[in-house]
Amino acid sequence: MTPDMDPFDTAEDAEAEILAGNEEEVHVDSHVSKCPTCGANLVYSPEKRKLECPFCGNAVDVDLTEYAEEIPFANILGGAADWGETRVFTCANCGARTIISDKEIAPVCPYCGTPGVIDESDITGLRPNAVLPFLIDKPTAAERFKAWVKRKFFAPGKYKKSARPEQIAGNYFPAFTFDSDTFTSYRGRLGKYYYVTVRRNGKTYRQQRVRYFDIGGTYSLFFNDVLVYANESRDEKHLAALLPFATDQAQKYNEDFIYGFGAAQYDKDGTVCWGEAQEKMRGAIRRAILSQYTYDVVASLDMNVSYGKVTYKYMLLPVYIGHSKYRDKLYNFFVNGQSGKVAGKTPVSPVKVTLVALLGAAVLAGLGVLIYFLTS
Ligand SMILES: [Zn+2]
Ligand SMILES: [Zn+2]
Repeated sequence: MTPDMDPFDTAEDAEAEILAGNEEEVHVDSHVSKCPTCGANLVYSPEKRKLECPFCGNAVDVDLTEYAEEIPFANILGGAADWGETRVFTCANCGARTIISDKEIAPVCPYCGTPGVIDESDITGLRPNAVLPFLIDKPTAAERFKAWVKRKFFAPGKYKKSARPEQIAGNYFPAFTFDSDTFTSYRGRLGKYYYVTVRRNGKTYRQQRVRYFDIGGTYSLFFNDVLVYANESRDEKHLAALLPFATDQAQKYNEDFIYGFGAAQYDKDGTVCWGEAQEKMRGAIRRAILSQYTYDVVASLDMNVSYGKVTYKYMLLPVYIGHSKYRDKLYNFFVNGQSGKVAGKTPVSPVKVTLVALLGAAVLAGLGVLIYFLTS
């Protein structure tokens, strides 16, 4: 905002606008935590694991002793979303009132720029019960990005030398983790290759055949913290590449960890995410069952999986988001706020891609010539 703007004037304007347009509204309070020495807003420092004053350096302890607990799955059904009303949040710093999305947990006041965290009881739908605090700070995330770019083989050399991370911001991404004790009964048919020599028209050929055998039995497998991101994102592939998160270190949800960061509610609710988690579990069970056998082909495998003792945590995960520029284009990147693992897009050098393709073709051609001589 401009320095001569009176925030209270603006607040009234904002309110007038809101009241003209909407009937039903829900008032949401936002919290800030103030520095006891100078009154500035405290932010969570990943490095110190404390709330820190960015102006005077004063630090306030955060409770790090309470770990997140598993919640029985039945509770997920009671927490169905009640999105829809107009939500008006009051800035704890300047009093301005603004409309916020029903998915926002950490709105920033557009008038004074104060990041606030909305009251736990004002969160719509299911409330997070776990948060994985940031362990690395912004400068470290920037360093990790630069090191990652240097390892990108196909990126243009000029970009690798000069790529600058811009607008890095720490955001908590919503996710569900699920535990389950599974019991599976299965039946299937696997095949193993064998070879025979056949004679046809006076010539001999080696022919591949398959010998089938039936399998069946039961398999027990316990899953701990199968993670499903709960936000709809175009960057799903990159977010998947940030895994794993050490979810067993999640703290009980506490807004102290959110101060200074962005945070959003889920787009995909708990039951949708549970469906995705079941798919992941089924895949792992299938691989575990098959790993007991020696085979070359799977003709069929029917599994009947019971998911026992399902519990969940609804967790906020720490991710830095930023971008770099190259020839006027923006390339987004993501950094795991815990491990420092980086994922994202970089520009690609057409020259390098062409060279590698030519090299590949040359190798294949070379192999072709070799095979021709060996077999004739
Ligand atoms: Zn201070
Ligand atoms: Zn404000």
